[in-house]
Amino acid sequence: MQRHSRLLLIIATLALIMGAVCITPCSLSAHITVLLYHKFDEQDSPSTSTSSQLFEQQMAYLKDNGYAVLSLEQLLGCIEGRIPFPHKAVVITLDDGNLSQYTKAFPILKRHGYPFSVFIFTRAPGVPGYMDWEQIRELKRFGAEVGSHTHTHPYLTDLAPREIEQELSRSKKILEDNLETEIRWFAYPFGYYDETSRSLVRQSGYRLAFTSDPGSAGAHTTPHVIPRQAIVGDNLDMTGFIEKLNRPPLNVLRRSPQSGRLPGSSISEISLTIARPELYLPDQIQVFLSEKGQIPASFDPTTGILSSTESIMITRKMNRVILTARRKSDRSFAMDSYMILLPEEGLPESTK
Ligand SMILES: [Zn+2]
Repeated sequence: MQRHSRLLLIIATLALIMGAVCITPCSLSAHITVLLYHKFDEQDSPSTSTSSQLFEQQMAYLKDNGYAVLSLEQLLGCIEGRIPFPHKAVVITLDDGNLSQYTKAFPILKRHGYPFSVFIFTRAPGVPGYMDWEQIRELKRFGAEVGSHTHTHPYLTDLAPREIEQELSRSKKILEDNLETEIRWFAYPFGYYDETSRSLVRQSGYRLAFTSDPGSAGAHTTPHVIPRQAIVGDNLDMTGFIEKLNRPPLNVLRRSPQSGRLPGSSISEISLTIARPELYLPDQIQVFLSEKGQIPASFDPTTGILSSTESIMITRKMNRVILTARRKSDRSFAMDSYMILLPEEGLPESTK
């Protein structure tokens, strides 16, 4: 009997150890996909519109497949480490305050009882094609969180710091006056950001700021550079939607070049260091640049450093560096992406 008890103890201990081993990769796989929508059923904007029929299917898919739909408040709690990341979770964000968000998306969101947020540029309310203040207040009464998207929707990276501050504080004040609530969330117009705009957004009192860089949020995500998956465009179907939900974040420890403004228009090397390289298939780690496609690169599985093997000339004002790595555990493609911008003097005349 005593031997039997000892055996049980050994089995229990082994189970605990195996459980502990499982906890690490399980928690690593937890991520939150922030979904980005603009317009609904607007055929004249095929690249930024979503069909409301497809939106309904997506919302039903989340429910049928056990996704938690989180508020921005809950997302902040996860990123700050106060709330554990749920196993499967999304956040729903709508940019610009287009009227079709109110007429087409709001009834569907209301029926599902999902939290969601809208990012308003404060010159828009009441302009034809946009929600007015009463409609925005109705969303808020339902529980929507409202964030700032500046006042005039400029490219913040083209503005002087003083002008950026004005865009941030003016829109915050207009929203707070009209909605009688503190505004703590921000989305970069066109998804454009750099070091200056990031730090000014933080200093202006915004707790979370969202880019349009594709990817998902994980425990290592920076609160003022949260990636989002755009769920827009004619050619996105349910398969594409599900793929976007299944892209965990890749923790990149060091980036060269860093995000933001480049010192010149050529890059001698792209070098990215990923955390926990042993989790990924070493021959399936790739780097892409928007204007070039895949960049030839070599990967060192010991150090986790991926380095491009050729220098690169940049011609577009904005590029994204996109890194993907296939995980050994579930074969999903973890990804990271970030924005780089040409220096002002390197811009061709037409894009200035
Ligand atoms: Zn916008």
